[in-house]
Parts: sequence; structure tokens; C-alpha cells
Amino acid sequence: MKKTLLILLILYGNMGLTDLKLFGSSEKLELKTTEATLVVDQKGILKIIQNKGQGIQINTSLDDLWKIVLINNLKNKEYEFTPEKNFSINKSRDVIRLSVNSFTVENKVLPVNAEFTISVKDDAFCFSGSLKSESDEWIFKELIYPDISGIKINDKNVKIYWPHDFGQCFNDPGAFGNRSFEYPSVEGTMSWFSLNSPEEGLYLGSHDPLQGAKKFNLTYNDADRSFNTGVFFPVYSSEFLVPDIMIKPYSGRWYSASKFYRGWYDRNFKIASVAHWANDCEGYMLTILKQQNGEVMYNYKDVDKLCDIAEKLNFRLIGFWGRGVGGHDHLYPNYMPDNLSGGREEMKKAIARAHERGFKVIVYTNGKIMDTSTDYYLYNGIETILLTESGQPKLELWKKHENSTPYIFATACPGSALWRKTLLDLAIDAQSLGADAFYIDQLAQCSPVSLMCFSEHHDHKLPQEGYSKYRIMMMHDIREKMKENDPEFSIMTEGINDAMLADADLFQGAPGNINDPNGFPELFRYTFPEVIGVTANADPGLERSDANHEAVYGLRHEIMSRYPADADYLQHGNIPTKESYSNITGPPDIKKFTEASAEEVTAYTHDLFQFENDNADYFRSGKFIDEEGIKISGNEIMGKGFINGGKIGVVVWNKHLSEKRDFSVSVEGYRLAKATEPGKPEINAFSPLDANSIRLLIFERD
Ligand SMILES: [Zn+2]
Repeated sequence: MKKTLLILLILYGNMGLTDLKLFGSSEKLELKTTEATLVVDQKGILKIIQNKGQGIQINTSLDDLWKIVLINNLKNKEYEFTPEKNFSINKSRDVIRLSVNSFTVENKVLPVNAEFTISVKDDAFCFSGSLKSESDEWIFKELIYPDISGIKINDKNVKIYWPHDFGQCFNDPGAFGNRSFEYPSVEGTMSWFSLNSPEEGLYLGSHDPLQGAKKFNLTYNDADRSFNTGVFFPVYSSEFLVPDIMIKPYSGRWYSASKFYRGWYDRNFKIASVAHWANDCEGYMLTILKQQNGEVMYNYKDVDKLCDIAEKLNFRLIGFWGRGVGGHDHLYPNYMPDNLSGGREEMKKAIARAHERGFKVIVYTNGKIMDTSTDYYLYNGIETILLTESGQPKLELWKKHENSTPYIFATACPGSALWRKTLLDLAIDAQSLGADAFYIDQLAQCSPVSLMCFSEHHDHKLPQEGYSKYRIMMMHDIREKMKENDPEFSIMTEGINDAMLADADLFQGAPGNINDPNGFPELFRYTFPEVIGVTANADPGLERSDANHEAVYGLRHEIMSRYPADADYLQHGNIPTKESYSNITGPPDIKKFTEASAEEVTAYTHDLFQFENDNADYFRSGKFIDEEGIKISGNEIMGKGFINGGKIGVVVWNKHLSEKRDFSVSVEGYRLAKATEPGKPEINAFSPLDANSIRLLIFERD
């Protein structure tokens, strides 16, 4: 019965085929979305044209639509294939299929097939396909598909929205030039980008439920003002299903592209529900207890000194960095408490004391590297380290003091079961010490294509899986285990990418540099407004402009105490000099954090955090809506909105450093209810805003 049905379906399928010769056919191959039409013409040109206005046009030759690299395992030789008219094309049930006729090397046909498809999915043009080799002799090494050129946007004001870190926006395509990002990594935190004129845009995104390793490229060609783009996949397999690459012309601003991506994301993934205390935290105070050179700034018994500083600044989360026997950036992954600093029992007492005083404690580990001078590396390195294609370890050198030799670290591979267990055991140990949260350094940043692992001692079948599939697994296993014992236990990692949103609570160094001239944190904040980003600040003081800048985006804050002069500044208010850091390789930005006195910096940090906490409905639990539906005007005035229930809070910042500024804000369909500033619970909403000051205007729905 079933067999008959299958045969009938196959017959029906064949009957439904509209076979077309690529060249010379009178029939067009055509697909339509609500807003655009895709056509393959008689000359083999694939065109995408926007229905209205024709502001966006793509004209790309099918002859460049893919590039396949095959490896012959016996000869250890690579061969590259492009379409070169060696394919057939047909359309069946609204799917355009392009099949490679044959792969030929030295007049020999290889036992290899490739088919590419174009269809309409979720109202976008979906580029997909499959690769298959029937012989172990031949495997696919890599694929670029789709490779699209001739993208033109008929408007002078084209902006490029790019998912580097929390996002970038380029106003000048010429200055953008040629860029790539790997996903998932901090250079490609989401798997989409868009080109947008004021009225319309073009979305390109990968909708891959496996969140596999890939690399996006975009190039602007000055000569004819066109863009070309391609998606690169490492394959290293005899079979590959090309995940959906979506191309979608749309009307309106970049918000539409962001919502399209988020819609897909929500159908496939669930973002971690964050512990209450972590959701409400101001950020954290990173304190290195013992430095790389063995210099101890704080013994475990000194915890009250740290609590005093945190209290003055209004941080509720204290980070114990350099907590292990080797100090910071030394002897990883050996983090056993340092006996000279007090040993394990004193560490537990220190954490308990911080709890008594109302603080939470997060402890440091590194998820990516191990010190090659450790017994761990000596005995377990072969099982845990990443090996490059040429069979070499991938090394990182870290040196904190000018007069020291660098410490050598090898990159680990999360595809190693032992490395995953090592990190899990460290998290269990941190929990047993009483810590509230576990920090995993460098992990969310890593780029899975650059960090492919060719070790044969690991769980991954494919080299690109170490920092994609197995990194996700490692984070997932750690968080699940920690939550079993304490549902409020939290994980923080360095960097961010959306493949890790299900398995971490806080993302540190996200955005990595809020002052990047092309920085556009709006992109990630708007797409994932509930995700908590803690900015990077390597100084012991939080400079007022940075603090305000972070607050406007609803980001969380950081200070770092790394060196004796930092500790002295925080404990006693003594301003460091250049000489204080003369032997330090990466000193803080002294000029920046010492422009105001330590007292002023401390007081403003305290008041700002209090202001954010008093208005937690917006700063902690509000949904970031950027400027959607909000009109803000004023010279050097910046403002962003946060919605919560029937209210919208607009945080306005006068960026000018010495002058007051007039401004105006209105929200469509809402009326002003209240205005407040740090240290001023009630204030006239539209009185001029003081220099480098912020104000929250709360609007209620009409
Ligand atoms: Zn590996």
C-alpha cells in the first residue's frame, strides 16, 4: 500500500516538472514574494527586482552562483569547480533547481553530485541545496553559495548594517569596502546583515537551525556602485545540506530586517531565562586578587575591602579574578585556591562574608586556553588542544609586565570531551566554594572557521564543529548542571553571539568598544532586547561619558582593578600617574578616568546605578525599542526608548561636555507622565539638560 503511494507520488512529481533548457527557452523561471520578483532570464542572469519603485535590483550571472572545492583523499589534491554552464535548470512546484551535470577531472567523471535550489520561504527568496559524494576518495572541502554580484540600491543614502559585535552601521559604502564575518562569533554575532536606503532594504541572512560555522562576505565596487556578497561554508564531508540563505527585499527601515531575523530565531531557539539577581545587576566589579607575576593585591581575608569599594560604587556583583594559585593569566586551567592567599577555606569564608554584606560573587575561568607550563597540558594536552590543518597547536602569548617573558597558552577544543569535563568540573568547584556565578573567558568571541580543529582525538567528525556544535554543548551542559543545584546560579562569558543566548545569562565585553565610530549597538539591542550586555572597561574608574553612553542603551557597566595602582585608586582615591604603570603592558587609560577626581567619579557611578535601579522597569526589564515611534531632536542630544507594559521610558543624554542643551521628545500615541534624573527624582521634563547628563522621560499610553 505504502509502496504504491510512493510510486504514485514520484510519478506525480515527474509530471509536475517543467523542464526548461537554460538557454533558448522561451519560458521564464520566476518566483515572487510580496515585495519582489526573482527571474532567471534567457542569458542565465538571475535578477531580483523590487516590485515597487525598483529601488533594489540584483543582476547576477548563474555562472558565478557557486564555488565548490573538492579534495581527492588519495592524491591529497584540491579541485575547484564553478558553474561554467555545466548545469541544468528546471522549475518544479515553485522550486528552481540547478543541478551540476558532472564533475570532471582529467576527462574522468567523479562520483559526485550537487544540486542547488531557489524557492520562496517565509516570504523571502531561499537559497539552499545539497552536495553528495558516493566515494570515500572524494570529499567536499568548502562551498560558497550563493555568490551574488550586481546588487544595486538606487539611492545615495545606502547604509550597511553589519553584525560585528553589537552591530555596526556604515554610512559610506566606499569606506566599508570589503569585509567578512564569521558566524557564530563576536565578529558575526547574528547571521544576517542588511543594506538599507531610507525607504527600503535588502536582507541577507542564514536561517540555519544548527547555527553551524560559516563566513559572510560583502564587497562594495566603487566603479559601478554595486555590491557583491557570498556565504562560505567549511564542509570537509562527503555530504552537506546547504542551510537556508534568505534574501529578502523589504520596505521600511532596518527594524524590518531585525524583526524578520528575530521571528525566525524564536521559531527555533529559546533565550535563557536569566536569574532575577543577574537581570537586576548593574554590571560588575572585576578584581584581580593576584597578578600574573605573583603580586598579591588582595588576600581572601581582604574581602571586606572589596565590599567597601563595591558599596561606594553601588556594584552588587564582585568578580574574583586571579583567584587561583597561578594568579591571572597563568597556570590555566589550574584554579585551585592559592594557599598563600588563604587557601580554600578562606576563599569560602570570603564568599560567605560577601554574601552577608549583600553582594554576589562571580569567579573567573578561561574557556579557550590552557597554560603550556602546566601538568594539565603535559598529560592531557593531546586530548584537549586544538590542532590546525597542519597538525600544529594554536598558541596565544600573554604577558602582563614588560620585564617578564610571555606565558604560552594552547587553544583548547570544545570538541574534546575532557576539555568540556574540565570546564564543568571547574564550574562545580566554583559552586562548591559558594560562588553565585561562573565566568568563562574568551568563549563567546571565538570564530569557528578560524578555529577549525583537525585533531583526531576529539568527538567532532568535522573540524568546524569544535567551536560551533561542541561549544554550544559545553555551555549547555555547564549551565544545566549548575541550575540543578541552584536555579539562580548564573553564567557569564566574554563576547557574545546569538548561538549562546540559550546557555549564558550575562555577556561581558558586549559591546566590546562602545566608542567605535561605526559602532551601532542598536542592531543587537533591538533584535535581542532581553539579552544582558556588560560593556568592557579596563579602567578602575567609570568615566562619566562612558557611563551615560552605556545607560542610554540599557547596557550594564564594568570597572577593572588589575594592578596595585588600580587598587590604591579604588581604596584610597590616589590618582595614578604614568609611572604607576611603567612596567605594565596594557595599562588603563589614565587620562580618561582621572579627568575628574576619584570622589566625583565614585559619586556619579553610585548615583547613576541608583537611578537605573530606581527605574528598573526601563533600565533592567524594559524592552529596548531604539527610536521606533519616538521623535527626538536637539543638538548633540541622543535618546533611546524602553517599553514596559503601557509605558515607554525615553533616556535622553546631552553629549556636550560643557554646555546645557534644549531638546524635545515625543512618542506617538503616548503622553508625558514624569521626568527624573540621577539624584533628582522629579524634574521639569523639558528644562535644558545639563552638560553630559541624562534624563528619563516616562510616557504613558493615551
Ligand atoms: Zn578538536
